[in-house]
Amino acid sequence: MKWPSWLKLRRRSEPQPPASPTACPKCSREMKFVEKFTMLGDDIRTYRCSECGLEYDLDFGIALWKLMSDVNKMDSGE
Ligand SMILES: [Zn+2]
Repeated sequence: MKWPSWLKLRRRSEPQPPASPTACPKCSREMKFVEKFTMLGDDIRTYRCSECGLEYDLDFGIALWKLMSDVNKMDSGE
């Protein structure tokens, strides 16, 4: 039996993009939070994918303490 032609159009060839920023870029599974680094002023969090056994560093932007210290500098600076 021949498949109807419209069936081809519905088939996905592209992998689905990860649903969340903490999903593994390889297998799209939700990764586990491992560690958080804010020493350099950026909020870097390490997530680990138990499926791939790989760890990824995710940059969540400027750490909160950095924002606060910048605000304090502006207040006291003259
Ligand atoms: Zn993975």
